[in-house]
Amino acid sequence: MQFLSPPGRQLAALAVLLLCGVAVTFTIHGYELLLVCFVGIWAMLGLSWNILGGYAGLVSFGHAAFFGGGAYTVAILSHDLGITPWIGIPLGAVVGAALGLLIGAVTFRLKGHYFSLAMLAYPLALIPLFTWAGWSEVALPLEREHPLRYMQFSDPRIMPLIVLAALGAALWICLRIERTRLGLQLFAIRQNELAAQCAGIATLRVKLISIAISGGMAGLAGGLYATTVLVVTPLSVFGMLASAQALIVSMFGGLGAAWGPLIGAIILVPAAELLNATFGGRLPGMQGVIFGLAIMAVILFRPQGIYWAVRDHLAPRGRVPADHGAPSEEAAVPHPEYREAPGEPLLVVRGIDVRFGGLHALSDVSLEVRRGEILGIIGPNGAGKTTLFKAISGVVPLAAGSIRLEGQPIERLSPARRPHLGLAHVPEGRQVFGDLTVEENLQLGTTALRDGRDAGRSLERCYALFPVLAERRQQLAGSLSGGQQQMLAIGRGIASRPRLLMLDEPSMGLAPTIVDTIFESVQRLNREEGLTVLIVEQRAIEAIEICDRGYVLSTGEVVMRGTRAELLADKTLREAYLGA
Ligand code: ATP
Repeated sequence: MQFLSPPGRQLAALAVLLLCGVAVTFTIHGYELLLVCFVGIWAMLGLSWNILGGYAGLVSFGHAAFFGGGAYTVAILSHDLGITPWIGIPLGAVVGAALGLLIGAVTFRLKGHYFSLAMLAYPLALIPLFTWAGWSEVALPLEREHPLRYMQFSDPRIMPLIVLAALGAALWICLRIERTRLGLQLFAIRQNELAAQCAGIATLRVKLISIAISGGMAGLAGGLYATTVLVVTPLSVFGMLASAQALIVSMFGGLGAAWGPLIGAIILVPAAELLNATFGGRLPGMQGVIFGLAIMAVILFRPQGIYWAVRDHLAPRGRVPADHGAPSEEAAVPHPEYREAPGEPLLVVRGIDVRFGGLHALSDVSLEVRRGEILGIIGPNGAGKTTLFKAISGVVPLAAGSIRLEGQPIERLSPARRPHLGLAHVPEGRQVFGDLTVEENLQLGTTALRDGRDAGRSLERCYALFPVLAERRQQLAGSLSGGQQQMLAIGRGIASRPRLLMLDEPSMGLAPTIVDTIFESVQRLNREEGLTVLIVEQRAIEAIEICDRGYVLSTGEVVMRGTRAELLADKTLREAYLGA
């Protein structure tokens, strides 16, 4: 996320904000102090929601499950076992994280709206469960003997200060996530999960880490809530309003930025609480109205939220490098490993079948890619070329057959694991991460590097191959031209220094001069560095001309194979596909 402020400035802003919060708690009294607690708690829940919904794009309607888990941990431990919230609150965070892992493991199989709705089911199911279990109202016992031990302080400023400290820690964690590889991977998953997998990102693991952090933060907020209000009911902590508040403060304040939920909570929580205190007697449910109006306003006028609106106004999105490892100054170097045993089989596909329901997209397809060659796959629309690539990279499962890379069976490995063994799949359709910079896209390509210290050199190598990317390294990938995006997609593939580069229709929708540049670059990589390339192309003649050998696919079967000369000389092929 190139448009975030530099880390030093963000930390300074965090420190100033916390100092302001502390100063405020020393100037206000009574109910206003309670409001500070609520702002902090809902901001934390918003931050927690934002990790999943903002960074990873996994919109959750059920964050109350984690919040309520933390709140009930504190309440039950205190009420039933006399255990102090000093222990209960951290345990609440652990319960939230564990719930996150459990729920994530089950629910991440679902995508899009299905995921969001499934998340809603958890807190809704917990409301009757906790009621049946006899926890319809759990009060923390008053401990007048040991107020400090049970966090029931005589000085009303202490609880707001504790909440502010926890909020500061949560905000710091989110700012760190934004600037580390985890954040970059989450942003990548949000924008294009297929491309993220092809870059070697273990998307399920990254999502589980994020939901564990998010659940832990929500559990911490829930524990603080229970300690502040002293009474917990299923509806107050697992209810729709809790999940909705998390979502709304994030969306209103600014989605995908740590400051967003904080801004949202600072504006919306006092407004809702004060109006509820004033009119709640006559108009019960006032908070819901305020949050409902806020979400309508933000959707209508500023869908990105206040943070981004202000940010774009003050400083149009420019480049601020994130801390993902700077490229080294070293020049590009050839990769001698590519030269090992040219001509030997590198990838061997034997008798693979792929089915989509009743459709046989691939039937008994076998092929061999030899080290150091460019192998082309051509065939008409719907022949199964893209499916073959997806089967090799693991994006679609095999119904039968085997795939070996350097003699090692890979057909059971996850798609994210295969790039780590040397497969780089550049999917069709210029799959770049549009909201990330050119450099961040390339950095994601280095995920599968065996030695992370080579990342800088890998980037320099991509820039040497495509100088236009070097000139635009700080530009958002989404703002590049189609040809530049394709170069970036290929650059991301070679950034992992693969054994086999798989290019799916790199010329699709591009002007002939750009196609020439791309084909020349691929040939350079092959000739100068010995990189093995497997390429699928609609432009059959151009493809065969750069290939050493080729296979022809038709209706999911290999119907012909041969060297470039053999294919070009074949009359049937020329008439059918090459426009003889
Ligand atoms: P094109 O050049 O048009 O991309 P292709 O040779 O790459 O064609 P594929 O995209 O591999 O062909 O498709 C092969 C067959 O499998 C087609 O009939 C297609 O409709 C079908 N197909 C591909 N993906 C799926 C899917 N996810 N679900 C169902 N059918 C699919």
